Amino acid sequence: MSSIAELLASRSSLAAVSDTPGLDVELLLAHCLDKDRSYLKTWTEREVGEQQQQQFAVLLQRRQRGEPIAYLIGSRGFWTLDLRVNASTLIPRPETELLVELALEKLADTAAARILDLGTGTGAIALAIASENNQWQVLACDVQAEAVALAQDNGQQNKIHNVEFLQSNWFAQIPAQQFDLIVSNPPYIDPADPHLAQGDVRFEPRSALVAAGKGLADIRHIIQQAQAYLKPGAWLLLEHGYDQGPAVRELLHTQGYSAVATLQDIAGMDRVSLAQYPATA
Ligand code: GLN
Repeated sequence: MSSIAELLASRSSLAAVSDTPGLDVELLLAHCLDKDRSYLKTWTEREVGEQQQQQFAVLLQRRQRGEPIAYLIGSRGFWTLDLRVNASTLIPRPETELLVELALEKLADTAAARILDLGTGTGAIALAIASENNQWQVLACDVQAEAVALAQDNGQQNKIHNVEFLQSNWFAQIPAQQFDLIVSNPPYIDPADPHLAQGDVRFEPRSALVAAGKGLADIRHIIQQAQAYLKPGAWLLLEHGYDQGPAVRELLHTQGYSAVATLQDIAGMDRVSLAQYPATA
């Protein structure tokens, strides 16, 4: 039998695969014990049962092979929510909370807003926005049926009732209507990007990460199609790669959007571009 402290010492075996080995072992062990991380700090000398120890050993081994923590424990925190994740979707990233912050800023004066989230994955963005105002109605779409089911489940788990879910390839299945705001974190990685062969992204679905045309194909499609779905003066918010700001702004200008701008994420990288559908067309 080993104590909590002894099991946490196995952090050193993750040094080669993770930037956060200490956090990783805590998350894995807390998951096996069905406790939160503060429990581990309080009960360092407590012996861990045989079965839980075995479960921990298996997860640790999978982590050593590079599998993302969120897939191993089946959940990830985003905004104020605890979201289930699985291999059918991208794992929500902290930098994506910038999209939520900007959406809230743009919607601050809109009482009964209608919002569209394209490529919702776990439902992270749609659910975070919806959780802030139950007068708003959010439509969340994804092309993958598994993602739609997962996002729906996350809505129920988090008791958020003002999000509707729909399987749709971008706008293809969305009935004609106009939104106050459209938001998306689409795939935007260049298929030739060497980062795709490193770290957590190796285990995430390619369809959620990679886009043709140097990563810009889906962003271009959304920018072109969104206008028919935006009220005059409504906003389009797009996440993109750190080096795609100029190209995305160019696409927005070319399509006749106004108030085009790019904002930086918590790491100081270009991460979101936004623009307004002209108030006077
Ligand atoms: N930000 C993610 C990454 O660089 C990519 C997310 C996306 O393609 N939408 O790993």
